[in-house]
Amino acid sequence: LVSRKKKPEDTVIDIKGEKFGDGEHHFIMGPCAVESYEQVSTVAEAVKKQGLKLLRGGAFKPRTSPYDFQGLGIEGLKILKKAADEHDLAVVSEIVNPADIEQAVDYLDVIQIGARNMQNFELLKEAGSVNKPVLLKRGMSATISEFINAAEYIISRGNGNIILCERGIRTYEKATRNTLDISSVPILKQETHLPVMVDVTHSTGRRDLLLPAAKAALAIGADGVMAEVHPDPAVALSDSAQQMDIPTFESFMKELNNFNVNA
Ligand code: PEP
Ligand code: MN
Repeated sequence: LVSRKKKPEDTVIDIKGEKFGDGEHHFIMGPCAVESYEQVSTVAEAVKKQGLKLLRGGAFKPRTSPYDFQGLGIEGLKILKKAADEHDLAVVSEIVNPADIEQAVDYLDVIQIGARNMQNFELLKEAGSVNKPVLLKRGMSATISEFINAAEYIISRGNGNIILCERGIRTYEKATRNTLDISSVPILKQETHLPVMVDVTHSTGRRDLLLPAAKAALAIGADGVMAEVHPDPAVALSDSAQQMDIPTFESFMKELNNFNVNA
């Protein structure tokens, strides 16, 4: 059902007036994790100032170590929604447990399914059964075909509002956190009718590569870019090395707004 052979025209997903898949560029920005109201509210204000419409932030954090900050859970989602509402932004947040979806849908506009859960089939089925757009991230060791099949799980349950997100894959290369598989973008655009985004934060893991990676993503045909923004990355409870501070985020957006992919 996600195949372009079945449906030649692009799927367009409208989230607060941002129409993913319409050929324009869309951005999902916000902190790695929701840490406090103060923190998300500061970022929400900066996101709003850029004229953007979507605010991300993890409340349920799938961390590699059980001793790392695990997120504020449903309380975090409530904080995120409050800050988003105050700036008329839509909320994008990850859900890791299928049982949380029912309660979480009251607080979010887009259900994010993270790389570590791309093949959590029960989660995919549950996300496919609700009337909310899904941002599906590529598993860190998933082939493009497995990624497309994960989207098929969601759409086959009735929910076709799926945004695919390339976030880097695991390779032998250690210069970046993951290896951004930039060619997956045109492949996913050719093989499916779904919008495709690139997460430059988790793919590169390097602040100095966020802008060039974002330009590459837009130049190769991505519908948008996701990146992480924190008021003070040095004290962030997760992904401290790669989140942008607010001035960096502002210059990042300025560069991308002036970046003409057709030039
Ligand atoms: C995230 O976007 O918050 C995240 C944890 O990314 P990923 O699932 O791609 O690792
Ligand atoms: Mn992160």
